[in-house]
Amino acid sequence: MHTFKSLLLGVSLLAGVATSSAADKLSKADLAAANTLRERALADQTAWQVVESLTTEVGARPAGSAADKAAIAWALRQMEHLGLTNVRAAEVMVPHWIRGEAECAVLAPYVQNVPVLSLGGSVGTAPEGIEAETVMVKDIAALAALPPGAVKDKIVFFSNRMQRTQDGSGYGLAVPMRTMGPSAAGALGARAVVIRSISTSSDRFPHTGAIRYQADVARIPGFAISNPDADALERQFASGKAVRLRLRSTSRDMPPEPSANVIGELPGTDKSNEIVVLGAHLDSWDPGVGAIDDGAGVAIMLGAAKLIHELDAKPRRTIRVVLFANEEFGTSGSRTYTAAAQAESTRHVLGFEADFGAGPVWRLSSRVNPAQLPVVDQIHRELAPLKVARGGNEANSGADLDGLAQLGMPLLSPDLDGTLYFDVHHTANDTLAKVDPAALRQAVAAYAISVWLGAQYPGEWENVAAAKPPRR
Ligand SMILES: [Zn+2]
Repeated sequence: MHTFKSLLLGVSLLAGVATSSAADKLSKADLAAANTLRERALADQTAWQVVESLTTEVGARPAGSAADKAAIAWALRQMEHLGLTNVRAAEVMVPHWIRGEAECAVLAPYVQNVPVLSLGGSVGTAPEGIEAETVMVKDIAALAALPPGAVKDKIVFFSNRMQRTQDGSGYGLAVPMRTMGPSAAGALGARAVVIRSISTSSDRFPHTGAIRYQADVARIPGFAISNPDADALERQFASGKAVRLRLRSTSRDMPPEPSANVIGELPGTDKSNEIVVLGAHLDSWDPGVGAIDDGAGVAIMLGAAKLIHELDAKPRRTIRVVLFANEEFGTSGSRTYTAAAQAESTRHVLGFEADFGAGPVWRLSSRVNPAQLPVVDQIHRELAPLKVARGGNEANSGADLDGLAQLGMPLLSPDLDGTLYFDVHHTANDTLAKVDPAALRQAVAAYAISVWLGAQYPGEWENVAAAKPPRR
């Protein structure tokens, strides 16, 4: 088989044309079904109902909480209701962190109270809090460039501002000050860290998100303040006078709790041993209700699966929706799932993830073996009426499919427009009001078509080189 493929590749190279064989083309019937999916998706309310139900009946669902368990029961009911089969909850142990309360005040030069959130996983302060002189640095590199002892016993304020981008690349550049900043400052003897939120908003909502403490550094508390409050704090520094902050947090760790990946399938027919996996995450941070992160992703995947289920034809490959446990605070569900997937007799041949808001889809990217690029082009042509551009072949998954992508699973990525995503990501403002029903329907249409055609592709989805790990 391998030799035969190499031979075919050689022939097409000799001919100077990279074409797939006619046998690898999607059938007329499968393309007609894609048309049906598009028409139905653009009029279908399922995804909206799913995200409305999740945010209303469960709401915030941080890992290890009672609401996390309620979300699992909710997801099992939804999958059964929408017609998925083999619906099950696969247990995952997750960390359980309690946010508690947080306070931030500027004591000098000009007294101000500042809305603040603890960063995810932060240790708390002593009950009386921390009062200290504060040093402002742009980012971790600027911190490292300070003279020795410059932040000892002080509070460090990271001031770098995230840039707004459609593809989310601004987040990857800015987020290390949140994930690594507390340990970078702790290693230099600082007492606490305050960051300018990883945010593109001018609203007064701080953005939380996980800290990744280094094992060999004493843990210090981490806090986030909004962009306008970070601007105001910069003006306090601009006075030239010493800036003192008081910080207090009752954040704390509890023992790990059981949670679960919730899994449901549309069983395949002649290629049922091959899994097309649709990943989104069920957990959310706690300040908001997780509508865009990641209720929308859950809704897109369930909405797409329901529409495919309602087609007259059954998929050739098995379409499996996985709603992952605890993406936000350590990707516990993804790690457990990836380990289990390697022990299965089935094979994950193609992955889709939706963890970047509620749409619209603006581009179709991929990470496939170059031999499969012609079918990606063919799938993209079916998305053209949805105004979806053609992206490159360097797509990365989100965090939940990263483990499988590292093992070489190909990815198709209907890219969700991230222009406004980081205005509300991880804030109290992540509510249903931020979901645009028309954009959500368009996203469901793009995913449903891509998933369906990916499941029907008559050729083989071949393994690819490992994807670059996403920044979290
Ligand atoms: Zn997310």
